[in-house]
Amino acid sequence: MQTEAPFKEIIEEIKEFGGEAVKFCYQCGKCDTVCPWNKVTTFSMRKLIREATFGLPEVELEEVWRCTTCGKCPQQCPRDVRQIDDVVALRRLATSYGVSNALLKPVRSASASLAAEGNPFVQERAKRADWTEGLNVQTFTEDMDILYFPGCLPSYDLRLKKVAQATAAILEKAGVSFGILGVKENCCGESIRKTGNEELFKQLARENIKTFIENGVKKILVTSPHCYHTFKNEYPEFKVNFEIVHITEYLFELINEGRLQINKEYGKKITYHDPCYLGRHNGIYDEPREILRRIPGLELVEMSEAREESLCCGMGGGRIWIDTKMAERFSNLRIEEAVSLGVEELVTACPYCITAFEDSRLGLNYEETLQVKDITEILQEVI
Ligand code: SF4
Ligand code: SF4
Repeated sequence: MQTEAPFKEIIEEIKEFGGEAVKFCYQCGKCDTVCPWNKVTTFSMRKLIREATFGLPEVELEEVWRCTTCGKCPQQCPRDVRQIDDVVALRRLATSYGVSNALLKPVRSASASLAAEGNPFVQERAKRADWTEGLNVQTFTEDMDILYFPGCLPSYDLRLKKVAQATAAILEKAGVSFGILGVKENCCGESIRKTGNEELFKQLARENIKTFIENGVKKILVTSPHCYHTFKNEYPEFKVNFEIVHITEYLFELINEGRLQINKEYGKKITYHDPCYLGRHNGIYDEPREILRRIPGLELVEMSEAREESLCCGMGGGRIWIDTKMAERFSNLRIEEAVSLGVEELVTACPYCITAFEDSRLGLNYEETLQVKDITEILQEVI
């Protein structure tokens, strides 16, 4: 009896942190058969859930931090065990106990930067709008139709700035009334929440919501599926409801309404990768493909794991900050498949996926063989 009490306490804490559904697991193991980690190493969500059920999670081990929250196992689970909520509950438990190890060092640094500067890359807030240099991008005012929210990577990362710039160029060409919040924009907080830092997520979300309201924002256009997911599905927890649009949905609309004309051919064979947070988490599969199909000369081929079956790039759930061994990167598998299909470009619609694929493309020496592009970068070339 003496040893049971602490376990009961832990079971209660996991429940309080949102992991109550672990109790429904009947250990069928379906989650492990679909998990991308088992393509590159061994990892068992089933085992994590089992340990949590008995109040015995080993929260200091890497296993608790592996899940990329790709959404594949929840769609297979016959008992609605809500594995993502469970693993986030374990991470919240770990955060509450101050668990610290070398693996989590970059997460701590990202957290400190988020709290101080509103971005996870230890960059100055003052430089958040530098990607607009030389472009005609205005600060958002209440009379504008749309707030464009590029998010952290497209604001600061050299490679991803090109995506924000392509987006702004397309919007301008289509005559869209839009502006940005620049230095007033904060990280959406999606990834840090998945690492278990609920307090920091709430701080970022509250600051963003306050800024949106103060500036009269109603409709928000985003580049990142992670911003999309959290604005659309998580910010309503704060009793607010903004209209959230992903760039692929919006571009599809602009083309259909005739506001964006495709004037040039794009004679390349490409494949499209469904980002987890656009596809599985939010059901947007058709709009990006429809945009690509409207481009004359472009040949679209599908990878074996597409749409609901898409293979995660490996960057979700806070893994963007955690180093993954070269041999264990899912993005390597994606790059290898794209190369085997003989495509010239791997196209996607997520800054995290582009980051992972660019790293793998260079690491695997496919610099000359394959290009990685965001859908906006292609569209910019054909309008
Ligand atoms: S698929 Fe669901 S019920 Fe089966 S082991 Fe995984 S969590 Fe448990
Ligand atoms: S959500 Fe994805 S990465 Fe996480 S355990 Fe399930 S299948 Fe694996």
